[in-house]
Amino acid sequence: MSAVMTSAPTASAQMIPEIVAPAGTPAALVAAIDAGADTVYCGFRDATNARNYPGLNFTAEDLKEGIAYAHARGRRVNVAINTYASAGNTKLWHKAIDTAASLGADAVIMADIGLLDYAARTHPKLRRHLSVQGGASTISSIHYYYEAFGIARMILPRMFTLDEIAELKTRVPIEIECFIFGSLSPMTEGRCSLSAYATGRSPNLCGVCSPAEHVRYEQQDGELLCRLGDFVTNSFGPGESAGYPTVCKGRYMAGDADPAYVFEEPECLNAAEYIGAMRKAGICAFKIEGRQRGRFYVAEVVASFRELIDAEARGESFAKHGAALERLRRLAEGGEETKGAYRKGWR
Ligand code: SF4
Repeated sequence: MSAVMTSAPTASAQMIPEIVAPAGTPAALVAAIDAGADTVYCGFRDATNARNYPGLNFTAEDLKEGIAYAHARGRRVNVAINTYASAGNTKLWHKAIDTAASLGADAVIMADIGLLDYAARTHPKLRRHLSVQGGASTISSIHYYYEAFGIARMILPRMFTLDEIAELKTRVPIEIECFIFGSLSPMTEGRCSLSAYATGRSPNLCGVCSPAEHVRYEQQDGELLCRLGDFVTNSFGPGESAGYPTVCKGRYMAGDADPAYVFEEPECLNAAEYIGAMRKAGICAFKIEGRQRGRFYVAEVVASFRELIDAEARGESFAKHGAALERLRRLAEGGEETKGAYRKGWR
């Protein structure tokens, strides 16, 4: 089908990049809006959402109230319907798209090409954003999603340098949203099956990585062992803080080497110091990861970025905003932070 571009949001015309904040709960949505988020993203309580964890997410009624709260304050709500529909059972996903559209969501975030096609045909005025789960990482693949499904924005996989993003922006006709803060995964966005290997379930189809029912912690010889399914993913000595056992953040022995983080260090992306460079690269929206996080965390991260982004827009140096930078450092997962691929050469 030919491209169907939906109307651009006000954010695309703004000089100041949009803050796109996570909301795992209605309380987090309110906290994010009150702290200064321009847009909140959230999902339904089912397998249509790549953060399908117990105790999180929105009913249709929650979403209706959340959208009303955001719109009353001139903000937006995007709905993540970013898993891949089950073979022979697309009803749940179609219903999620229909519900998001009927409740007035500002955009749907999707990866599955069949669902993108359904949304484009059924709700052509509803903006479609390509989820990072789509894993589109070349100009031709981005053009394909634009031409086939009229995507208005794509959320870039966390694998590009800033120079590459600036170059990319000159060659694609859509908005670019990038992660600026939060947990990192290995650079296989949208293609990770490690959780399925260990537990039979992964974010791609079920919306959950390392589901809690497969997680066990055991004390052994003074160490805390973390098990996921049949695998020991990590062990922690006294005084070491134990993280949640996702396969990618486990420590393993490769050959005769000591146990090490062979996939990914448990670090937090914190690109606060690149706010100006990211804006100049053409990124119109800064995304904060963390729908599994509580409302206090969301409020603190959003408020810190609100202060820094507004300061950068006024041309101020960050020297006067050390407290906000320090707050973000403190909130970084495990206390360790990284600039991710934006400047790194390890990809
Ligand atoms: S194992 Fe890691 S990279 Fe893979 S889905 Fe889970 S958190 Fe993401």
